[in-house]
Amino acid sequence: MEKYCVCGQTMSIRLRTVIFSNKVKIENVPIYSCGGCERSEVLQDVKQELSSLIRRLGRNPEKQHIRFNESNELAFLLHEATKRERANVPVEQIVKERVNQLLDLMLLAQSLGDEPWSEEIQDRLSQIAKASIPT
Ligand SMILES: [Zn+2]
Repeated sequence: MEKYCVCGQTMSIRLRTVIFSNKVKIENVPIYSCGGCERSEVLQDVKQELSSLIRRLGRNPEKQHIRFNESNELAFLLHEATKRERANVPVEQIVKERVNQLLDLMLLAQSLGDEPWSEEIQDRLSQIAKASIPT
């Protein structure tokens, strides 16, 4: 998941709080940031979801506080990986645990016949798959 900046330095992934319209605080948005020139950009893998979230908020959003890691799997995983008590756990391990957890939930949702819930879990699993993290 390494990326190079236009200035030639390596960009690293961080979680940042994004303020939208001066009112909406979106926490834990994964971004690439460059140590060399202060440039930063939102991860390609979360761009679509972030823009649809912003679209849903509309032009005049109410003051609110959103945790992006609660709706986006990649943000969730990065957030887990950066928690201090998990500092020694490799990201692959965290991903594996999360996938197992989601598969358990999936089984539960399916046995309850809860379609929307199964779909939501399916969507979360595909977010992980798309993010090309080795599992
Ligand atoms: Zn740079």
